[in-house]
This record gives sequence, C-alpha cells and structure tokens, in this order.
Amino acid sequence: MNKPLKGNQAIVIGSSMAGLITARVLADHFRQVILLEKDETDDEPKPRKGVPQGHHLHGLLAQGRTLLETFYPGLGDELIADGAITGDMGESMRWYHFGGYKKKFSSGLKGLLMSRPLLEIHVRRRTVQLPNVTLRMGCQVRELMTDVTGQRVTGVRLETLGQEVIRRESLEADLIVDASGRGSASLRWLTALGYHKPPEEEVKIGLSYATRLYRREVDPLGQVELIMVAPEPPHDKRGCFAFPIEDNRWIVTMSGILHESCPKDPDAFLDFTKSLCAPDIYELLQTSEPLSDIVLYKFPCSLRRHYEQLKAFPDRYLVVGDAVCSFNPIFGQGMTSAVLQAQTLDRCLQNSKTLDGLWKPYFKAIAKVVDSPWQAATGEDFRYPEAEGQRPPGFELLNRYTEAVHRATQRDTVVYKAFLEVMNLMRPPQSLMRPTIFWRVMKDKMLHQRQSKNRREGIAETVSAPA
Ligand SMILES: Cc1cc2nc3c(=O)[nH]c(=O)nc-3n(C[C@H](O)[C@H](O)[C@H](O)COP(=O)(O)OP(=O)(O)OC[C@H]3O[C@@H](n4cnc5c(N)ncnc54)[C@H](O)[C@@H]3O)c2cc1C
Repeated sequence: MNKPLKGNQAIVIGSSMAGLITARVLADHFRQVILLEKDETDDEPKPRKGVPQGHHLHGLLAQGRTLLETFYPGLGDELIADGAITGDMGESMRWYHFGGYKKKFSSGLKGLLMSRPLLEIHVRRRTVQLPNVTLRMGCQVRELMTDVTGQRVTGVRLETLGQEVIRRESLEADLIVDASGRGSASLRWLTALGYHKPPEEEVKIGLSYATRLYRREVDPLGQVELIMVAPEPPHDKRGCFAFPIEDNRWIVTMSGILHESCPKDPDAFLDFTKSLCAPDIYELLQTSEPLSDIVLYKFPCSLRRHYEQLKAFPDRYLVVGDAVCSFNPIFGQGMTSAVLQAQTLDRCLQNSKTLDGLWKPYFKAIAKVVDSPWQAATGEDFRYPEAEGQRPPGFELLNRYTEAVHRATQRDTVVYKAFLEVMNLMRPPQSLMRPTIFWRVMKDKMLHQRQSKNRREGIAETVSAPA
C-alpha cells in the first residue's frame, strides 16, 4: 500500500465478480473497504441466490485471466490446484461455426475452465484476505445518503437480516461504488435524489439457456477439449457448449436465441443437442452420466447504461460491472469487462487529486472499455433481422466481412489468432481490418468460393490456405 490514500473508507455494494475486483482495487486507495452483500453464503463453491447465472457455463477470456492475475498474483495456479482446467485456446477448442470447424493450432493463449462459483470463491477468498477489506454478508443496501445539498453521496442505508429481525443501519464512506449487477437500484436511487437516469440502450435477443452437469471421463493422456457448436444466423437459432470443469465434470449449456426455448425435460434436452448443426455434443452426451437437474435462465436483452452521457451526477458515487453493461452472455465478456472497468477505476484514482468530480473521467473511460465488447457482441446479434436494437451505420458490410473472417478461421491460423485476440478482448474489433488480416481473409474467401464452384461443377482442385 504505497500509493497515497484517497480516503478513509470506501463501500462497494454487491460482492460478485465486479464488486470483489473493485474492492481489490479500492484497497490500494482507501484505509478501509467494506463490501456489502445481500446474500448470506458460506465458503463453498456453489451457486447462490444473488448470482443465479452461477449455475451456467462461464468462460473466462484470456484478457480477464491475465488481468485477474495482476490483481491476484498466483490466482490461476490456485484455481488449477483446486481442479480448474487449463489448455491452449487454439488447441483445445473444438469449435463448429459457420459450416465448419475452426482450425486447431497452438495459439499461446491460455484458457482456464472452471465453474463460475469456483472462480468467485477464490477471488472472494483472496479479496477478503486483504487486511483492509471487510465483507459483510446478509446486508442489503436500501438507499443512498447524501449531504444537505444532495450533490454528494455520503453513505448508504442498509438492512441486515438476523434471527428474523430486520436491523437498519447507516454507514458512511468517502466513496460508494455500486456493483449490484444488472438489477441495480442506482436508477431508482438517482431519481429519488432528483438526478436523471442514464440513457439505456437495449438489444432484444430473447435468449434462453439450459444447463446440466455430466460426469467426465478424464483423458489418460491429459488432453483437454471443450466443444462449442455455434448457430449459423440468420435461420439457425440453437447453440451448445460443453466445457470440462473441476471435479471431472462437463458443464453443458445450450442456448436458444430469439425465443427459441431450451428444454427442462431430459429427453428434450438430448433431442435439442441432436438437432444442432454438428453432432459432437449429442455424441458426447450419449455416453456421459448426468449429475444434476437441468437449470434454465432467460436473458431478454443486452443492456447498456450510458452514464457517460449524463450532465449531472452526485459526487463520490460510481457504478461498475453488469450495472453498467450486461452483454449477451454467449460471448463470455461480462467478467472480463468487469475486470477492465476495475482496472480503469484504478487508473482514474491514480490520476485524480480529489474524489469530487471523479465520476466524469471514470464514466467516460469505462464507456471506452465497454465499447469494443458491446460492438462485437451486438454486431453478431444483428445478424438476426429479428434482433431489435439500434443498428450502427454500415453494420451489414461489417458483418459480411466478419462472416468471411469466421469462415477463414477454419483454414487460416493467422486469421484465427487475430480473431481469438479480438474475442478475448486483447485487441479491438477494428484490428481485424488491418491490411495483413484483410488480405488473408479476402484471399481465403476467393479461394473458397472457387473451390465451392469447382466442387459444384465436378472439377478436381487442391486449394491451400494462404501461407
Ligand atoms: C446466463 C449468464 C451467463 C454468463 N456467462 C458468462 C461467461 O461465460 N463469461 C463471462 O465473463 N460472463 C458471463 N456472464 C456475465 C457475468 O455473470 C457477470 O458479468 C459477472 O458476474 C459480473 O457481474 P456483476 O458482479 O456486475 O453483477 P452480478 O454478478 O449480478 O452480482 C451482483 C451482486 O450484487 C448483490 N446485490 C444486489 N443488490 C444488492 C443490494 N441492494 N445490496 C447488497 N448486495 C446486492 C447480489 O447478491 C450479487 O452478489 C453471464 C451472465 C449470465 C446472465
């Protein structure tokens, strides 16, 4: 703790991934950090009420893993020691997309596979090990406290549930950060204080998830493979993922977009996997023993709150994580976006002399952090004409190009590597337009079109990917 302190006490509302990492960052800038969590949970890695998505498959992107390791050195090794599975992303993904399998290769990008509760419990343990962080469970924040002008947030009013008696309490702090997720009460609290709500942007995708755990036979050679079968828009709406996780299990999550519903019935679950555009997961489940019930989840729309567009906002109050932007979960960006936002907060705190007015540079900076994953995810959603939302100008042209990128990843590992870097939020989507990649994508498209034409006309030809 050798950075100059910014204040005495900070409060973080919500102790899921965004809240924990934010507390980790604030611990370097405040004498004391208090995490307030409405759930009462023990130290077991299991799904909990406040994070219902914890039942479902959670992929951690390479960028998220790297940044988590900078905040919690050795976290990856701890997770692996506790059963998380690691492998090269290019080698271990059997990924069917746009009519073919992506070409396997050694990418140098290390993936980490585990259940969401296992990841969260390790991040929680590491966070509360910090001497100046306190986690208070069973504390639901009910409203904000302000100074007499109403322009500065000075603390929170909370309720604790104990022995069936609700206790009310006020807690003061120099900075309060809302990490309470998509259902955040910030909008209500801000309106109650006389502020405008941030403009909201929605992309309606009517997504449903169904997840079941299966026993996994461990490969005697230690080989790790995860399977992804992605739907091919605009007609195909069903996808499925099977990831190996701790305790020799598969987590199998199926997805249906635009109200294609996922079944809760075991036979229908299997039928769903049979109807996918590649047989891999159906074949896997034929010989795998189910270990759990099927759990469903509905995700009506991706949602972004543009706090950066507000002209007035109370001092000493910030918002982070899903409370700012909740992405289509299929792209696995939420946790990495939360870490990137926490890293941005760290930089803003380092660069600011005072906590008053911090909200302005902070919301501007996190809007930039959220832009790329939002653009990438909603761009894919807009391949479906029925997806409702504000389409950016030129999106059709862009989507035609990225479709060619997806197809090229089946043959060209240079393009695939560039794509993986974007997918893992290590580079912006525009990097796929750089001349070396653009040329390879176009060449692949032309070669592939010629190959298809020749096949249709019965002409034999060997076509190789660009060197
Ligand atoms: C189905 C699904 C699948 C997903 N898959 C992935 C994936 O593969 N990869 C990925 O990176 N991300 C994924 N995500 C997103 C990921 O779960 C979130 O981005 C991540 O949990 C960070 O969210 P958060 O911490 O901001 O909010 P949340 O995880 O929603 O947590 C909010 C916390 O605040 C607490 N809380 C709420 N209100 C109060 C209050 N008033 N007082 C005190 N505490 C309160 C809640 O109990 C909870 O602990 C998925 C999301 C969904 C819905």
